[in-house]
Amino acid sequence: MSHYELRCRECGRTWGNQPRSICDECFSPLEVAYDYDSLRGSNGSALTRERIAQRPPNMWRYSELLPLPQGFQPRLPVGFTPLFQAPQLAARLTGTTAAAANLYIKNDAVCLPTLSFKDRVVAVALANAREFGFDTVSCSSTGNLANAVAAHAAREGLKAWIFIPSDLEPAKILGTNVFGAKVVRIAGNYDQVNRLCSQVADEHRWGFVNVNLRPYYAEGSKTFGFEIAEQLGWRLPDNVVCPMAGGSLITKIKKAFDELIKLGLVEPKEVKFFGAQATGCSPISTAIKTGTSEIEPQKPATIARSLAIGNPADGHYAIKTIKGSGGWSEDVSDPEVIDAIRLVAETEGVFTETAGGVTVGCAGKLYRQDRILPEETTVLCITGNGLKTTDVLAGVYQTERPIAPKLAEFEQYLQKTLDVADIREIVGAAEEAASVGA
Ligand SMILES: *Cc1c(COP(=O)(O)O)cnc(C)c1O
Ligand SMILES: [Zn+2]
Repeated sequence: MSHYELRCRECGRTWGNQPRSICDECFSPLEVAYDYDSLRGSNGSALTRERIAQRPPNMWRYSELLPLPQGFQPRLPVGFTPLFQAPQLAARLTGTTAAAANLYIKNDAVCLPTLSFKDRVVAVALANAREFGFDTVSCSSTGNLANAVAAHAAREGLKAWIFIPSDLEPAKILGTNVFGAKVVRIAGNYDQVNRLCSQVADEHRWGFVNVNLRPYYAEGSKTFGFEIAEQLGWRLPDNVVCPMAGGSLITKIKKAFDELIKLGLVEPKEVKFFGAQATGCSPISTAIKTGTSEIEPQKPATIARSLAIGNPADGHYAIKTIKGSGGWSEDVSDPEVIDAIRLVAETEGVFTETAGGVTVGCAGKLYRQDRILPEETTVLCITGNGLKTTDVLAGVYQTERPIAPKLAEFEQYLQKTLDVADIREIVGAAEEAASVGA
C-alpha cells in the first residue's frame, strides 16, 4: 500500500494512483494526499530533521513527502539550490539598511540540470510516468518546462514530444532540441498550445507532465518550500514573494510549509504569500487587486514569457493562498522587469531570467507599499536563469569599439572612461540639486 493517493480538491473523492488530473464526479482538480500519521511513526521510522540532514543535498532528501513509487531510485541530483542573504539588494529595494539581514534569495537559477525550478516538478512527474508504463512523455510549455522534460527524458531513456508557442526565446527552443526531443512549434499562445495538448492526451497514451500527470508534477514544487525552511535553520520566513504563471508553485510552497508544521519539523507560523506577475499577463494579480476570487483570462503581451499564461490552471487556488495568508499580489511592466534583472545582478551577482525580474520588481513595490516591512524575514523566489532570456537585454549594453592590444591604448581608453564617469557624476549631482530646488 502506498502512503499517498489522488484526492479531489473539492468533493474529496479518492482516485488511487493513476494518470489523471480531474475528478469525474465534480470536474475539479485532483491533488496528492498523504497519510501523515505513517510519517509521524512511533517505531523509529518518523521523518526527523536529523534523518533528513544525513541525506545527500538534493530534493530527494524529502522523498517521504513526495509521490514516489515503491523502490524508486533517483537518477539525477536535482535541487538543493542556494539560499542566501541579499543585503545590497535589500538596501536598494527599501532605501534603508534595516532589511539587510532579513532579505533572502532562493536561487533556482542554478537548479540542475536545466537551470530552473521546473527540474523539480519534472523529476517527480517522470518518476510516475515510468510507473504508469509510458514510454513517451510530453508537455505544453512556456519554455523552462520544455527544457526540463527534454533533459530528464533523455536521462531516463524516454521519448519526449514538446509543444511550445512558436515565438519562444531561441535559447529555450535550442535548450530543448539539444536533448533530442521532438519539438512541435504551434502558431499560437501558451493557452492555445495547452488546449491542444489536452486533446492530444485523449488520443495518445503519453504521459503529459502538466496534463494527466499534473497532480504528481505539482508536488515537486514543494521541495522549493522544504529547502527554504531547512536552509533558514528549520524556521519559516515571514513573507515569500513568488512569481506566478499557472499559479501552482505558490500554492505548493504553502503546502510544503503546512506539511512541515504538521510533522513537527518547524514551529507553526503564519507566512504571508505575495504573488508576482508581469503587467502584460497578470490575471491572478488583477483578481487580487480587484477583490474577485475568479480569474478573468487575459491575452499575454509581455517579455516575461515563462510567466505568460493568460488562463492559469491553479489561479483560483493561488488567489486563495494569497488572500488566506494576508498577502497581496503585484505586477510590473516590461521596462521594470529589465531594471530589476539588472539590479539583482549588480547588487548580488545573480543573473535571473525575466521571471526573476518580475519577482524582484514586485518585491520593490511591496516594500514601498509597506506590505512587506524591512524587519521581516522575506524570501524572494528566483526561479530561472538569465542566460535563457538574453534577448530582452539586447540594446541595453552597447558594444564598445575594440582597442589594440597595447598598454598605451588601454591607458587612453581608461582615462576616457573615467572622464565620462566624472561628467556623469557632475551632471547627476546638478540634476539632483535642480530637482530638490524645484
Ligand atoms: C513555470 C515558471 C514559474 C511559475 O510556475 P507556476 O507553478 O506555473 O505558477 C515561475 N518561474 C519560472 C522561471 C517558470 O518557468
Ligand atoms: Zn470531485
